[in-house]
Order: sequence, then C-alpha cells, then structure tokens
Amino acid sequence: MSDIIKKESYPYAFTPSACASCEGKCCTGESGYIFVTKNEIEKIATLLDLSVNEFGVEYLYKKGYKYSIKEVKIGDSYECVFYDRATNGCKIYAARPNQCATFPFWDYYKTRVDELKKECPGIIDV
Ligand code: SF4
Ligand code: SF4
Repeated sequence: MSDIIKKESYPYAFTPSACASCEGKCCTGESGYIFVTKNEIEKIATLLDLSVNEFGVEYLYKKGYKYSIKEVKIGDSYECVFYDRATNGCKIYAARPNQCATFPFWDYYKTRVDELKKECPGIIDV
C-alpha cells in the first residue's frame, strides 16, 4: 500500500508515516481553534460516556457562534486537551472532529503550502 495520499486539486501530497515521529505538531504548538459541530459534540460525549452538557462544561469553550475544544498550556506549547503525549495520539481518535480528520487537506492551505510545510512534516510536493 502506498504511503502517500494525494487529493485532486491540492498542490501537495501527504505521507501519514510522518505522524509517527512528528509528536503531534497539528495538535500542539501555537494556539488554534478546534471547532466541533453539534453532531461531533454528541459523538465525542458518547465516546467519553458523558452527557453533552458534562462534556461541554469540561472540554469546550465558545468562540462566536461556534464551539472549540479547550487547550492546555505545557511550556510554550498550547496543546489540544485530547492530545496524549505518552502515546503521541488522540484520545478521541474514533470520534475526532472533521477538522482534524481532514487535516492537512484544508482549502485554506491550497494557496499556503509553505505555511503548511512548517506545520506538518508529512507534506511533500507533487
Ligand atoms: S503535523 Fe502532520 S505529520 Fe505531524 S501529526 Fe499532524 S498530520 Fe501527522
Ligand atoms: S481532537 Fe485529537 S486530532 Fe484533533 S486536535 Fe485534538 S488531539 Fe488532535
């Protein structure tokens, strides 16, 4: 199986094997929003065996009309509260938000490949 993912209309490709040694650069580092939809909130709450309300109070904050997953500051790094340093993985991987599941293929990066390369070591030119 090829370890390169390409998507039509994206000027770059992605090698998922880079994640093994990357230490979650897309889940840590600079502060950013990790937006979740109502549907995603319900799925994550179910995965964690929490009510939607309990989950929201513990793990979300409001940004405008949207909700984002909270971060924790460790040293100079702002890390998603669900990033697990010990395993270099996502604690809610099975229910992770679409924003995470579709990274690095975001429209935003189509014209910002250099910016993306700084964020993600798995990006290669096509
Ligand atoms: S930044 Fe890229 S290589 Fe690193 S964990 Fe995220 S997707 Fe994988
Ligand atoms: S939800 Fe999971 S994949 Fe998304 S930023 Fe947090 S740790 Fe990373």
